[in-house]
Amino acid sequence: EPVISIRNLTKTYQMGDISVHALRSISLDIHEGEFVSVIGPSGSGKSTLMHILGCLDQPTSGQYFLNNKDVSHLSDDEVSRVRNQQIGFVFQGFNLLTRTSALENVELPLLYNPDGAVSAAERKSRAMAALAAVGLKGREHHHPNQLSGGQQQRVAIARALLNNPTMLLADEPTGNLDSRTSVEVMNIFQKLKDERGITIVLITHEHDVAAYGSRIVSFKDGQILSDVANESRRIAL
Ligand code: ADP
Ligand code: ADP
Repeated sequence: EPVISIRNLTKTYQMGDISVHALRSISLDIHEGEFVSVIGPSGSGKSTLMHILGCLDQPTSGQYFLNNKDVSHLSDDEVSRVRNQQIGFVFQGFNLLTRTSALENVELPLLYNPDGAVSAAERKSRAMAALAAVGLKGREHHHPNQLSGGQQQRVAIARALLNNPTMLLADEPTGNLDSRTSVEVMNIFQKLKDERGITIVLITHEHDVAAYGSRIVSFKDGQILSDVANESRRIAL
């Protein structure tokens, strides 16, 4: 059973008289533990796909099943529940709060937990464990400006992991990083896949970055151009 199943998904933006076909009948299954790189040039529909997968936007037509549940047309409340419980987001710009520590940044999703309070002690222990999992033991009390770009992105990954999401959705996660720190971040994604079987969908326009995935889906003009297992995936060390 796939974790993600999309069927004949389309997204059309209407701009006055002009229809922009951002996604043209896409079908795709992603299984638990896959690390899928979605690659394609600017304007090929990657962000549109990511917004739909993240339940930030709804398709014009077609279906999106997440863990066998059709999530393409839920109410706002249901959508935010799905988003909070099942999806961990990682963005290009880290999106960390600058005036609080790494630990406090990572605890945030539990502070605003829609399913009831989590004790301060539990918040702390889960956040400490998530930071250790991304190799940041000992940096818990550093503020973002005391951390490198790669370390800041790893704090963001720890935060995304805190609710044990079904999948991590990463949109150009190395877009603000130099190649050395990019490797550091890709190493963490590979570890999470290999050691914990976390499902990862990573969007990028860089072939070097896509090469770390176990599967590469390439987009062009709102369609899937190719979808291949990446047997010789690049290993980050
Ligand atoms: P990518 O992420 O691969 O650069 P996008 O999904 O952002 O591609 O864009 C796909 C197409 O849809 C492009 O032609 C883009 O201009 C258009 N598009 C994206 N978002 C909107 C929007 N909100 N309104 C109108 N057109 C959009
Ligand atoms: P991101 O990938 O972080 O969403 P983008 O630059 O692709 O960044 O898009 C920023 C916002 O602008 C998104 O909400 C997207 O839907 C919207 N957008 C993208 N392309 C267009 C467009 N051609 N016309 C109107 N809005 C667009």
